[in-house]
Amino acid sequence: MSAAKPEIPLQSPVSPEMLTEDTKIKFRCYKGISCFNACCKNIDVQLTPYDIYRLKTRLGITTDDFLPKYTYPFEMDGQGLPGVKLAPVEGGTACQFLTEQGCSVYEDRPTSCRYYPLGLLSLRKKDSATDEQAYAMVVEDHCKGHFEDREITIRDYRKEQGCDEYDKYSRGWRQLILKKKSAGPTIGKLSDMSLQLFFMASYHIDQFQKFVTSEQFQSNYNLDPELVEKLKTDQVEVIEFGHKFLKQILFGEKMFEEKEGAQEARAKRMKEKSEMIRKAAQHSVEDFAKKQDGDQA
Ligand code: SF4
Ligand code: SF4
Repeated sequence: MSAAKPEIPLQSPVSPEMLTEDTKIKFRCYKGISCFNACCKNIDVQLTPYDIYRLKTRLGITTDDFLPKYTYPFEMDGQGLPGVKLAPVEGGTACQFLTEQGCSVYEDRPTSCRYYPLGLLSLRKKDSATDEQAYAMVVEDHCKGHFEDREITIRDYRKEQGCDEYDKYSRGWRQLILKKKSAGPTIGKLSDMSLQLFFMASYHIDQFQKFVTSEQFQSNYNLDPELVEKLKTDQVEVIEFGHKFLKQILFGEKMFEEKEGAQEARAKRMKEKSEMIRKAAQHSVEDFAKKQDGDQA
């Protein structure tokens, strides 16, 4: 199989062998195992949009409150594409959701916590438009689950851990990232505006929902009124809409009809804005020159 190479860092606990759904793994994790909670004491958990939605809904807070308290940003591709990871406790490395009894958000735990000790890899064959999922085993000294006497296929392990729903709502987003990474410099560095839109549509779900249901957005795009109503009440719909919106913004794939004259109106608004900024800058230079003249007189 000719495929994009997965990123496995040197000295990594990730086994380089690629596994499929049919592969049997030897693993079991349960309350009472000698290493219970060890894996959550030094976290490196990247979050998907759906992970954020589940966690912030569980906590009953907005993304405005969730993002600064429970996440920190990182760069996904060396070209400024923003990602977010779970932030550990202040001054430490353990997960903020860890308690002595285990994970306090277990039913809503993120995708990578569900997959552990498997790493999920998205790969795309050369000349193929779609990606494929593959898996790699992560073997860390602290994890004793590998010595348990249970064999299970990855297919059944995914079922047991409830991965299907998480993958369903993250697939479009993963494909975007894969496409951006495999396009490399050919689509160039994204503008600051595109990166901000990527961040908002991917992670700042509440803000993105306000944005896409605003009158200004509706005046730019021809959206089905039924979809607009759904977007007002259903944030999973907002997440999936975000993936399509980003396809259009990042790769110019036409996912939604722009209203006639919307581009011109936008260009006019941008021109007016930059004229306003130019005038304001000119005034402040003139004020500064006048003040200097006054000081010298
Ligand atoms: S969210 Fe739960 S399972 Fe995941 S690292 Fe935190 S405590 Fe562990
Ligand atoms: S078996 Fe592995 S995954 Fe389970 S608690 Fe122990 S370290 Fe964590």
